[in-house]
Amino acid sequence: MKFIAYDTRDDERNDFEELSKKLNIEIILVSEGLNINNIDLAKGCDGVTILGHSKVDSVILDKLKQLNINYLSTRTVGYNHIDIDYAKSLGIRVSNSYYAPNGVADYTVMLILMCIRHYKQAMFRGNVNDYSLKGLQGKEMKDLTIGVIGTGKIGATVIDNLKGFGSRMLAYDKYQNEKVKEKATYVDLDTLYKESDVITLHTPLVDSTYHMIDTEALSKMKDNVVLINCARGELMHIPDLITGVETRKIGALGLDVFENEEGIYHLDRRTDIISNRDMAYLRQFPNVIMTQHMAFYTDAAVTSMVCSSVTSLVDFVEKGESENEIII
Ligand code: NAD
Repeated sequence: MKFIAYDTRDDERNDFEELSKKLNIEIILVSEGLNINNIDLAKGCDGVTILGHSKVDSVILDKLKQLNINYLSTRTVGYNHIDIDYAKSLGIRVSNSYYAPNGVADYTVMLILMCIRHYKQAMFRGNVNDYSLKGLQGKEMKDLTIGVIGTGKIGATVIDNLKGFGSRMLAYDKYQNEKVKEKATYVDLDTLYKESDVITLHTPLVDSTYHMIDTEALSKMKDNVVLINCARGELMHIPDLITGVETRKIGALGLDVFENEEGIYHLDRRTDIISNRDMAYLRQFPNVIMTQHMAFYTDAAVTSMVCSSVTSLVDFVEKGESENEIII
């Protein structure tokens, strides 16, 4: 069996090499994303694996079909970079990856703590030997009400993580999870907005969650609210957030994701002119922490992403099915 992995990062290579030996398969590693100029490298392969930088549209899918490639796996959980309907119409089977929610949940707690203890400012000051305390007085977790929106895999793990701090926990989801009820109280969204000191988002990006955090939502929240987003940038309306920070409605923001982050996050753009004004403006506030969509990025998650994507391709070839196949 022979596969090709596009978009490979250095930190994935070891996992690919070990799997290749263990399963006795050949895997060609290509660091560039899959595109029309390098797609011919896949000739003769039984399947292709990609990351989110590879945009798989109808042109790419037609070409894969011409190359007689019927299996595609993405080493990501999300699959909005693939035209799944078109793949299905061509008979190309597509799978996504699975990794444990702990890395993102841990990171969420880190952003909450960094926000409530003004850690961005403290770190900047330390770098220039400014060891003053003015403006750095924080809050204690035990005194805070934390609202978790979306209590699926990651949201529920965030609640597990936070329980030990003694915070009051509120939750909102379209569907309630019985295990979550042991640690948090489900309330309606308006109550969560009204009573939470910290609000953290863990829903997928769907029509009902697109720009859900806007001026109207902010107006229902406490003054000085801390907002955390380790889910998807599009859940927040950035111009409204900027106004919220400028008017001090928002006390702090911790964002691991950002609308239109594609082409910026995960790349070294140091010497480039970047034209995302909102990103540049929001980043400069002392109470706004922005990171490059890295909450998922742990050793365990990367190994799972590589393993589950290659295993999917092997299962498609050998058994005609994969437990991670995207069925829509
Ligand atoms: P999940 O599917 O397990 O949970 C999502 C939850 O959101 C479900 O319980 C669902 O019922 C709920 N939900 C859906 N629509 C809702 C709505 N309108 N209002 C309230 N709740 C709603 O997903 P997950 O694995 O926990 O992932 C959560 C988010 O985290 C996703 O957006 C995912 O893309 C993102 N994510 C980010 C990173 C990162 O590195 N920053 C990594 C992995 C996942």
